Amino acid sequence: MSSNDATSFGTPDEAYAFAAPFRAPRGSPIRELFKYVGRPGMISFAGGYPSKDLFDREGLERALEAAYRSDPIACLQYGDTAGALPLRRSLARLMGARGVDLGPDDIVVTTGSQQGFDLLLRTLIAPGDTALIEEPAYPAAISALRLAGANIVTVRTDRDGIDVDALAAQLYAWPPASRPKLLYTVPTFANPTGSTLPRERREALVRLAQAERIVLVEDDPYGELRFAGTPVPPLLALADGCPGARDWVVYFGSLSKIVAPGLRIGWAIAPAPIARRMIVAKQTSDLCTAPLAQEAARHYLDSGSLAPHLRSVVGAYRSRCDAMLKALAHFAPNDVEFSAPEGGMFVWARLTGGRDAGEVLKRAIERNVMFVPGTAFFVHEPDPSSLRLSFAAPDEAEAFEGARRLASALSF
Ligand code: PMP
Repeated sequence: MSSNDATSFGTPDEAYAFAAPFRAPRGSPIRELFKYVGRPGMISFAGGYPSKDLFDREGLERALEAAYRSDPIACLQYGDTAGALPLRRSLARLMGARGVDLGPDDIVVTTGSQQGFDLLLRTLIAPGDTALIEEPAYPAAISALRLAGANIVTVRTDRDGIDVDALAAQLYAWPPASRPKLLYTVPTFANPTGSTLPRERREALVRLAQAERIVLVEDDPYGELRFAGTPVPPLLALADGCPGARDWVVYFGSLSKIVAPGLRIGWAIAPAPIARRMIVAKQTSDLCTAPLAQEAARHYLDSGSLAPHLRSVVGAYRSRCDAMLKALAHFAPNDVEFSAPEGGMFVWARLTGGRDAGEVLKRAIERNVMFVPGTAFFVHEPDPSSLRLSFAAPDEAEAFEGARRLASALSF
């Protein structure tokens, strides 16, 4: 029995009359790979975890201490469901630096941005409602839509993200009876492709969402991890340039990839009618996000520690990504294409010669290197020729060596 197996007294699953989405739920294909990660000498490009060597442990220790010392009761007592006001003020300032003008009352603190998306789905999606999602897509967003019983329709992407012209054509031809209610996208350093939607496409997407009255969900955990190219404003910031568009954008931010996922601090920015309902949904989910974590996050943000920490993380990710791509360019066979991201944590690769990434993974594991086959990121028809490589965890030398091993696994 693995540590995840609960005790069973022999009662079959069917006895419990589970709700439809939970009758045969799919496990996470990425978690299945974890058993290999601990193998001695393994270099993993598989996880979507931030690097454990780069956490600002001293800065966070100081923030936790300061939080508890300055207001132990705020840390120990239940808090406001929408989030602690001091943290919401700090997050409003952080959003100001991202080009979004708002106040603390426009922010709902969530237990990770993952909870934010779940709350949004509870307020908007009834079983059978149509939801759009870019493809390939972040697997937990696909799972959340599946568990909500959504009719999931995928939107085409190219190397720059959503093909907005194709989306517009798709929407103009849509039967009025099943209008999509929302569109989920990670427009900056996407998981899994690493791609970033260019500014013109962002503006067109925002206009389209407003004109078609579709909630545009911008998931932005990676936006500050830019190590090359020119920054592009979030969709939410660009919505201000299109009258009425701000009413159709929901933004999710997170401290997970820029500070630490263990804090479980995310935030949602939604039009007031949606935000009010998400707060009602959150009351039955967890009452409030852990106050100790919120106070610590507030002290961390207010201490000015984030900017220097981000500089060190971004610098490390730049050199890890460069090392990986350099080794792949040098050693990998010609029929493998790689994206060259300007930030974030992921490179997306395609095997143009028709080989199967699942087969490559078996050969890779024999050589002590791992990645995630691209099939995990598709909704209906998986593309067996794609793979996701995360350069966040290995250091620079390991990234080079891992890519060399991967190139060997690719050569058959
Ligand atoms: N969105 C995307 C695109 C992600 O990759 C992740 C984490 N892997 C999340 C959301 C979840 O982040 P959080 O820890 O804030 O719940």
